[in-house]
Amino acid sequence: MQYEFDKRSVKVIEHIRNSLPFFCFENFANGSSDTQHAVFTRQGGTSPWPFDTLNLSISVRDRAENVYANRSRAYATHDRSNDSLVHAHLIHGADVAIVTHQDYGQYIGPVDGLITNEKGCGLTMNYADCAPILIFDPLRGGIGLGHAGWQGAVKDLPGAMVRAMQQAFGSEPADLSAAVGPCIGPCCYEVGEPVLSAVKDTFNESQALLRPAPDTGGSELSGDKRYFDLPEANRQRLLEAGVEQVEVADFCTACRTDLFFSHRAEKGCTGRFGAILML
Ligand SMILES: [Zn+2]
Repeated sequence: MQYEFDKRSVKVIEHIRNSLPFFCFENFANGSSDTQHAVFTRQGGTSPWPFDTLNLSISVRDRAENVYANRSRAYATHDRSNDSLVHAHLIHGADVAIVTHQDYGQYIGPVDGLITNEKGCGLTMNYADCAPILIFDPLRGGIGLGHAGWQGAVKDLPGAMVRAMQQAFGSEPADLSAAVGPCIGPCCYEVGEPVLSAVKDTFNESQALLRPAPDTGGSELSGDKRYFDLPEANRQRLLEAGVEQVEVADFCTACRTDLFFSHRAEKGCTGRFGAILML
């Protein structure tokens, strides 16, 4: 069953450059030319199944030469290379690092959030069901890129990114523009313990985030099965941190394995799509 995302969701716009497709949020930068971003799909690369085709991660069992060829193609759409972007070693935590161009080509961390206020500095991370978190401060010239699955949402990685930007750049949360990129939706994200307890313990509105099975219309037949609304959980974290403008991509990665890699839908045997964010 296709889950209908709420009205909070926005369309992301597809672009094609050098015959490679990518998505952009319509209102993320509010027309500002001070930042650029892209969420790549799995299309347009060179890797064979199950990494077909634009796998950008060297942490899966794809051949390194394929990954670097894919990165060249993807990053070239924004005149970047593997060595002119900052990467992160992701661990589903809530730590955030401040980076500059001196970190280009490096894997920072382990951290799940990167921030910078250096003009021209570019950030990248890879995903397969976890949510890309993008933040932009148009007034003070800062950006943040994050990676938040259920653990990042529970540990409040989005809020940690906002607070890191406040502390490092003097950002006011109300000035920030944020976006939650394509991730697994409540249509597909069946959860049990320890996710249920962790969400109930840390979110005020946990009932709304743990939905009944979509095909039972919420009847008692759904039993203990719950479906976690990861994009909404991340949006809530950004709102709690004081961000007022939050866009949420209207894609579920598990429903759309034609477009994205999904760890859940493809039973762990898949690649990672990428996001880039530049100041
Ligand atoms: Zn889905």
